[in-house]
Amino acid sequence: MTPPADSDDSEPAVPIHCPDCETTSRVPLATVADAVERHNEQLHDGDEVARVDPDVADRIADLAAEDLGLLDGA
Ligand SMILES: [Zn+2]
Repeated sequence: MTPPADSDDSEPAVPIHCPDCETTSRVPLATVADAVERHNEQLHDGDEVARVDPDVADRIADLAAEDLGLLDGA
């Protein structure tokens, strides 16, 4: 199997899990908030059903901190 043309490691993909739809989709970090909002709006009348896995959300916070250089020399 050939991977799709997203060998771009600079942008981490974030899994969004929706227990109602029983789906998990990966979207780029930059669009994750939008994707969650749109999913919930279109499929769940704006209820916050779909969400980023809490464990992953933690890691994203770390990644973001790293990105900002907050973890340098810690
Ligand atoms: Zn859903």
